[in-house]
Amino acid sequence: MRHFAVVGSGPAGFYTAEALAKAYGEAARMDIIDRYPVPYGLIRFGVAPDHQSLKAVSKRYDKVAETAGVGFIGNVCVGADVSVEELMEHYDAVILAIGAPHDRKLGIPGEDLPGVIGSAQFVGWYNGHPDFADLGPPLDGTHAAIIGNGNVALDCARILSKTRAEFDGSDIVGHALDALDNSAIKTITVLGRRGPLQIAMTPKELGELAHLEAALPLVDLNDFPPVEADDGLDPGQRKSVTILRDFANIRANRPKAMVFDFFAKPLAIEGDGRAERLIVERTELDEKGAARGTGETYEVPASLIVSCIGYSTPSIAGVPYDERAGKFLNEAGRIADRLYCVGWARRGPTGTIGTNRPDGYEVAEAVAAAMPAGSSGDRAGGEGLKALLGERGIGATDFTDWRRIERAEEAAARSGSPREKMVRVEEWLQALGR
Ligand code: NAP
Repeated sequence: MRHFAVVGSGPAGFYTAEALAKAYGEAARMDIIDRYPVPYGLIRFGVAPDHQSLKAVSKRYDKVAETAGVGFIGNVCVGADVSVEELMEHYDAVILAIGAPHDRKLGIPGEDLPGVIGSAQFVGWYNGHPDFADLGPPLDGTHAAIIGNGNVALDCARILSKTRAEFDGSDIVGHALDALDNSAIKTITVLGRRGPLQIAMTPKELGELAHLEAALPLVDLNDFPPVEADDGLDPGQRKSVTILRDFANIRANRPKAMVFDFFAKPLAIEGDGRAERLIVERTELDEKGAARGTGETYEVPASLIVSCIGYSTPSIAGVPYDERAGKFLNEAGRIADRLYCVGWARRGPTGTIGTNRPDGYEVAEAVAAAMPAGSSGDRAGGEGLKALLGERGIGATDFTDWRRIERAEEAAARSGSPREKMVRVEEWLQALGR
């Protein structure tokens, strides 16, 4: 019997466990370990609450968790409660699937002022991440700014602009829904340091903006090159740019505005004890297509600033780490003998949920090639890990516990919502009678 530990229960972790289960059948057992008592990582804490169809992929992960030989060990933080070295004593291989939960810094003056938050914090707050339950983003001003031109920026701008009714059917947490309902924000400026043809936003996500109830997406056609320039784009990007251009033709009166400000590079954030304005430099594209400052600066008022400029993977003691890229040092997912990584911890923070499937299968294949089915000598696998955790007084959760928490969340749901998420570790443990 082989024993594998997959650290992280987001998409990358589940696809890897699925692939290992297929590769080894009954000849292996694997445990998906998570620092929280509940599984799904990015699906639960990252995917927007009004994108329930994307979240439905967790049903597939449920099936993986119910596969014979696959276990869930929640409420265990690798690197704090147990080291990677200890895991490697108990398991034949350890696969790190811990994602990229940390915000990249802007690196500009004023970014530590109250009112400036990273997208991991903001998204975590409205999605019920326990670390951000008390974030309390300032929604008392009339202007907000979103920095970045990716899909996360779109998520944040859309969530800020929706009405209460538009969250029907979502699983946005109650504290965020109430706060957003009382928000004074009327103008949301979305800043891209490059131009409209360089956005990293996908057509479906952009298209939603045209139909918002209260917010009108606004673009300045002077920012766009002649329409023929779109011919050189790949089909997906061309579709996105067409949708952007078409925003200029929407004839509607809506009380809020989502203003796309292109060629806009943040230089500093200023304010009296809290964020009040963003100092921005107008840019142009250089020969390589990068943003080059023109020296012209202007101010964008904003008492809430959300930077959506990418993420990094936290380092773990003893695991080689690439500081510049913010991910584990690896070659095709292999970090060292018996130690692997998958997903954003392997590739960096790009790609959709589905990208993690081939990624997980590729690494599982590499594991299977290096370690054919057979005996793992005296490695004790999950039983050994649980004994160690017991000695340390750490109460791990399993998949049955998760089911109980899920049922409690479903029972607490307000009307029109699939669940009311618990947002603190203590709440989860309480639901389990611990
Ligand atoms: P992203 O797609 O890499 O976009 C990051 C954005 O930040 C880019 O526009 C980038 O501009 C900008 N940026 C980076 N550093 C900056 C700086 N110092 N100053 C100003 N702007 C800066 O990342 P993301 O939005 O975090 O998304 C991560 C991944 O998740 C993506 O693959 C995304 O598609 C995916 N995702 C998908 C969905 C969905 O399918 N619904 C939802 C959310 C996220 P440059 O291009 O100039 O570098």
